[in-house]
Amino acid sequence: MIRQGELLEQVHAYNPGADDKLLQRAYDYGERMHGDQKRVSGEPYFSHPVAVANILTGLRGDLATIVTALLHDTIEDTEATYEEIQQLFGEEVATLVNGVTKLTRLELSSEDSAQAENFRKLLIATANDVRVLLVKLADRMHNMRTLSCLEPESKRLRIAQETMDIYAPLAGRMGVQGFREELEDRAFQYLNPEAHDALKERLQGIRDESGQTIHAITRQLQNHFAEADINATVSSREKGLYAIWKKMERKSISLEQLCDITGFRIIVSAVEECYRALGIIHCTWQSVPGRFKDYISTPKANGYQSIQTTVIGPERQRIELQIRTRDMHQIAEYGIAAHWAYKENANTALAKNMTKQFGLLRQLVEMLKRDETPEEFLEHTKLELFQDQVFCFTPKGRLIALPQGATPLDFAYAVHTRIGDTCVGCRINGRHMPLRQTLQNGDEVEIIRSRAQAPMRMWEKIVKTGKARSAIRRALRKHQDEEEVYLGRRLLEAFFEQAGQRLSDQLLERVLATMRKSSIRALCAAVGRGEIPAPKVLDTVYPQTAGKSGGNKSERQASMPAIRGVRPGITTHFAEGVFPVPGDRIVGIFTPGEGVVIYPIDSPKLRAFDNQPERWNDIEWDTQNNTNAVFVARLEMVQLDEIGSLNSITSLIADYGANIVNLRLQRNESSFCDVQVNIEVRDLKHLNKIFSALQGLSVITQLRRISG
Ligand code: MN
Repeated sequence: MIRQGELLEQVHAYNPGADDKLLQRAYDYGERMHGDQKRVSGEPYFSHPVAVANILTGLRGDLATIVTALLHDTIEDTEATYEEIQQLFGEEVATLVNGVTKLTRLELSSEDSAQAENFRKLLIATANDVRVLLVKLADRMHNMRTLSCLEPESKRLRIAQETMDIYAPLAGRMGVQGFREELEDRAFQYLNPEAHDALKERLQGIRDESGQTIHAITRQLQNHFAEADINATVSSREKGLYAIWKKMERKSISLEQLCDITGFRIIVSAVEECYRALGIIHCTWQSVPGRFKDYISTPKANGYQSIQTTVIGPERQRIELQIRTRDMHQIAEYGIAAHWAYKENANTALAKNMTKQFGLLRQLVEMLKRDETPEEFLEHTKLELFQDQVFCFTPKGRLIALPQGATPLDFAYAVHTRIGDTCVGCRINGRHMPLRQTLQNGDEVEIIRSRAQAPMRMWEKIVKTGKARSAIRRALRKHQDEEEVYLGRRLLEAFFEQAGQRLSDQLLERVLATMRKSSIRALCAAVGRGEIPAPKVLDTVYPQTAGKSGGNKSERQASMPAIRGVRPGITTHFAEGVFPVPGDRIVGIFTPGEGVVIYPIDSPKLRAFDNQPERWNDIEWDTQNNTNAVFVARLEMVQLDEIGSLNSITSLIADYGANIVNLRLQRNESSFCDVQVNIEVRDLKHLNKIFSALQGLSVITQLRRISG
């Protein structure tokens, strides 16, 4: 395990002004918190965060990054909390550690390849500070270096695959080439051990053979540059195993060429020298057409700058060369991390250039999201999608990708339809939030559920995803159907009973064809919706009972009202479309052939008789003789169109001992529904009780009585 003193020394080597106290405190705190926890290898657990910190000193990480590395597993694996770390090490470190913790909690199964891409996008999207990503990369690096200790093999393979799919490409995109190469090679070793070992052995052979040649080429280049008075450092390096393997696979070639394994690098002081060095190389050896690339005049999106060329060398072998300045080399090696090295002395030309190019660290993340070089076109189109996505977690750390603007309801439906259907509330990052809240990247969303819940119509307006919307519609349709079937059945039962008949499935079965319905359920639903009036069904089943049941006069009570003030022998009946009940003031109008037609006193229809006072007849209800009679009253209401609301209305009416004799529903565009219901009541008092009880229902937004 790396001692505290060693780590301090490493940091001081590139950051002499670093705050020793802070580093020491972080080291001590981490060591204390992890206590006697052990890694699978048996080593003290704390050796891991220290190794991660050490890896990051290789990238010249700033102080907050090194401290974060030391603490990166404390929130997840020890008693430490965000608040405590914030108190002890400040806001910056606490935010960074929290960011790493979030990424650690992501659960990813390698079988779920669709998640792999999401995951990489998420890493970028969640880590709003690029340092979080670097710590995570270093964390993965150390885990890969110690992967052989992990059991069982399936676990090793999963982690290796994840490294290959996610972390190595991420390191590449961030421009940290050293990280990418090592991560790739280590993953390769586990994913394809045979190829890895064979290639390694073969390379050793080539290395032995070509050692002399490499030396000769280096010497020759150095001499040429010295003659031209260019201050250049020439070096050669072997490419990564996996990079060589991929190239062999891609071009299906064998490993014979020097250029396949070795690259030469020429580092000079100034940009102008790059082009002069290139001229010398192209004059000495013939260049290979199509292999010349000038990334100095057109840098890659991740900031990479170099001239690349391939030439035919002294022994007819191909040689790959990179030419760049020292500043460019920094960026090529450290990528985004190179920014740190120059942040402190902001006056150098490179620092100004980097600042101009990259802006603040936060904006570096933005840069990662964009990518405009043609060779990364594919990547780019994928990222297009991702810009309008948010990534959230379940409490267990599962990643859910949603469109921008998505709400907890979308989240619930994305996890599972059943979870969506039974959602009653949510907590976002531990706090109760409304279901219409817009989700942010990295939000942890906990869905609160209840078995009694059913989707509501207003949910449709809250959700963003098609999946949630169609699930809600499906559920609403189902519940609506059930409600309508239930209601239709009740209406039919009531009408049959009035007609002195008993409703049965066999009876309904007989009229299905006539009513053009495929099932009893469909018939009941049509009655419930008001599409087929219940009396019509009765008339179809028992044509002869039409008169008795009231037929199209079904909206009136079965018996004639007992009225005082009319001479015996003269018939009385209510006018069409009026619904007075005992207690309402009424008036009778003599009508030839019909007797006395009864109107409520405030009926607008009475105006037609204003000029015929001789027809007006003072009448009143004969309450004594109406004791068992019931009268139809009509109510109109606007009801919140939610599952169960119609039911609450009908049950309330039933609770007050009133019968529903007709009901019409009119669904609007909005989440409201117009309801017209005819109920049988004893008198005005009875009606008023029901009326005020209905007013107390929260699902009713408007209520009025229609009397005439
Ligand atoms: Mn770790």
